[in-house]
Amino acid sequence: MFRKILITAAMTICTTFSAYAAEEWKIIHAGTLLADAREQVRIEQSIIIRNSEIIEVRDGYVTAGQVSGAASAKIIDLKGQFVMSGLIDSHTHILSQQEANRREIRVTRSSELSTLMGVEFGMRTLRAGFTSIRNVGGDRNAIFALRDAINQGIVMGPRIKAAGQGMTPTGGHGDGGGFRDDIFPHPHSGVCDGAAECRKAVRTQIKYGADHIKYVATGGVLSMTATGTGQQFTDEEQIALVQAAHAMGRKVAAHAHGKIGLEAALRAGVDSIEHGSYLDEETADLFVATGAYLVPTLIAGHTVERIATERPDFYIPEVQQKALEVGPVMKNALRIAYDKGVKIAFGTDAGVNDHGTNAYEAVLMNEAGMPERAILISATVNAADLMSLTDITGTIEAGKDADIIAVSGNPLEDIATLLAPSFVMARGTEINLDVPPVDLFPWPKI
Ligand SMILES: [Zn+2]
Repeated sequence: MFRKILITAAMTICTTFSAYAAEEWKIIHAGTLLADAREQVRIEQSIIIRNSEIIEVRDGYVTAGQVSGAASAKIIDLKGQFVMSGLIDSHTHILSQQEANRREIRVTRSSELSTLMGVEFGMRTLRAGFTSIRNVGGDRNAIFALRDAINQGIVMGPRIKAAGQGMTPTGGHGDGGGFRDDIFPHPHSGVCDGAAECRKAVRTQIKYGADHIKYVATGGVLSMTATGTGQQFTDEEQIALVQAAHAMGRKVAAHAHGKIGLEAALRAGVDSIEHGSYLDEETADLFVATGAYLVPTLIAGHTVERIATERPDFYIPEVQQKALEVGPVMKNALRIAYDKGVKIAFGTDAGVNDHGTNAYEAVLMNEAGMPERAILISATVNAADLMSLTDITGTIEAGKDADIIAVSGNPLEDIATLLAPSFVMARGTEINLDVPPVDLFPWPKI
């Protein structure tokens, strides 16, 4: 009797193990495939996927029987669709979205609630076709927990590379906004002044899990102070921030609007400039010389300008003023940068705009004069390069993760087709797109 129980137990373990180790095969029949945004489309292709990985891309529509080991493969019919690599947003704040009482939230919302909100916002982003995001500032504990939970398969979401807290000088764009010290402890981990403190602040983020470092080189639109959009960290502080990050193998993203502060960040050696609103031709030359990416975030400018115009009571006067000034100049900055050959990585500032509206950035980039193909490159190959994900995503080829989307039209001819993907797969998992929209809060809509 005892022996029989042992045998049954052993069989159960074996069954469980084999179920766990089972391979799941999928074959996507792609009518039109843009495997690499830098290359030409190919017609009638099959993408063969095992678990989360692309195994092979073959000409023609192959059957499960034609792929060794894939007899039970699920065939996914996208013969009438345009199939391409999952999109990448290089600038998100996935834990939050603009709310009218954002000042109060800053000192009342828990990290735990932020993480859970990030799960919902992440799914909205994923359903919009964005299979990877680079988060550039937000509650450190919350974002690292969300990233790790997604990586470990505990919750679904886009692949996240996270900065943790952004670095800011005291009173600067990322600082608390004038709260008393007993309400908003100061300095918190992202605030630093002087080279030594800045180095320590960078190292602290890395200690807790930062994939990259974000700092604010200049003032910003949504900081609740009338400190403009000019340089805030000194040249010396910026050099210390970048050197400390690079020494530990982390890339650096610098938020920058004004020309002087922006150029100081480029000279300090940052890997990307976020926004870049007031760059000119001279600045663009400096971009090209240093090889830094511009992450344009046009939709952020578009959103704040629209809110400031349509809902004049939404922002406090200091923010209202900046929103009306900065919004309109950003398209011009992208036009100058693109014409000069600056490397562009797609990024929105989602959280300023509603999560899930990320692809509208592509429409605005196109309006600014950037061709469709260049936009698709910026949102796949280039963003993957900036995020050090080139070996993992950004193109559809053997060995990479199966991050794949489909749209009904041809985005090389009409970029707006990106607004409504018909199919999304992230790391081999098909995402259910049939989810009714839920308006959780009265956020301003673009
Ligand atoms: Zn931002």
